[in-house]
Amino acid sequence: MADVKKIAVIGGDGIGPEVVAEAIKVMKKTEEVFGYGFEFEHGLFGGIAIDEKGTPLPEETLQMCKKSDAVLLGAVGGPKWDSNPKELRPETGLLGIRKALGLFSNIRPANVFDCLKEASTLKPEVLEGTDLIVVRELTGGIYFGEKFRREGENGQEAVDTCVYNVNEIERIVRQAFEIARTRSKRLASVDKANVLETSRLWRETVIRIAADYPDVELEHVLVDNCAMQLLRRPASFDVIVTENMFGDILSDEAAMLTGSIGMLSSASLGEGAFGLYEPVHGSAPDIAGQGIANPIATILSVALMFRLTFGYHDAAEAIERAVKEVLDAGHRTGDIAVDKSKAIGTVAMGELIVNAIRK
Ligand code: NAD
Repeated sequence: MADVKKIAVIGGDGIGPEVVAEAIKVMKKTEEVFGYGFEFEHGLFGGIAIDEKGTPLPEETLQMCKKSDAVLLGAVGGPKWDSNPKELRPETGLLGIRKALGLFSNIRPANVFDCLKEASTLKPEVLEGTDLIVVRELTGGIYFGEKFRREGENGQEAVDTCVYNVNEIERIVRQAFEIARTRSKRLASVDKANVLETSRLWRETVIRIAADYPDVELEHVLVDNCAMQLLRRPASFDVIVTENMFGDILSDEAAMLTGSIGMLSSASLGEGAFGLYEPVHGSAPDIAGQGIANPIATILSVALMFRLTFGYHDAAEAIERAVKEVLDAGHRTGDIAVDKSKAIGTVAMGELIVNAIRK
């Protein structure tokens, strides 16, 4: 057996624990099939942690995450905590955990399953072959720059400053080149270098680092053009790397290529191999406790963890193949079913995928 990897498991709120349970079954199946080993430790986080411990991110949960090789997170939040003061809101815990774990990039794959092409708002022929990853910088840029109001000549003004330093750019760009190397070796760096100084520094840095990755084909795309090209030729992108706000917008746009929120996985990475993996969707309070949530986004987050943190490409591929096989056979949860009366539940979908995992 390979060395045992420590996984910090955080179910969270709403459908979080339901979808995470299925993802763990998938990980256990890969232990059997591929001989990998995992040790799971569970922690409280989000609304449930506010109720039981009086804080969204208890210190013991944070320590558990820090001692782990990777974190698997469901989702947090819900109407019960929406009117709480800021420090007692689940989302505050999310920001806190990313910061405390030093996570500086968010990775979101968008790949289109052939059998779900019809669910997208784009024409199936445009989507054909789409399989891309958006790598978004998480800690810098306009969201974190100085913000203030002042009296100007024409009344009140508001100012948001956008700041990036070379180190912040360099670490995420290197990460994106490394990810591109494990895929089709194409990287699109997105900026607005025709008008923004931060973008000019971004582009200079990308060009300098590119010299270390001669095997990766690099293109520079202006953010407005990228927004258009994602709709016109999504299949031509492999890895897209960009700063915080551009990435926020483009990753949501790319997500919609695939049609359903219940299918989208994500990772947040820092230095080294450690990462936090979670579905893109939230806690879906409207369907929580009914056993009907789609577990595929969380299961595909495990495949992402296997690729990016552990380098278990064989098991990652087996999970992705199993998901495809189950969908191709016509099985659907309610969110992706055309005929809702034939929809299956969370556990049934999880079981079908587990049973389809093989070498
Ligand atoms: P949501 O993603 O929870 O739900 C949006 C819609 O998609 C709902 O109709 C829901 O039923 C459906 N949906 C989502 N995931 C699904 C799945 N796996 N299977 C089937 N249907 C699914 O977004 P929201 O309603 O805006 O937010 C609900 C709560 O989740 C809020 O408290 C929000 O703050 C929180 N949230 C948390 C995270 C996170 O933990 N990272 C992310 C987004 C939202």
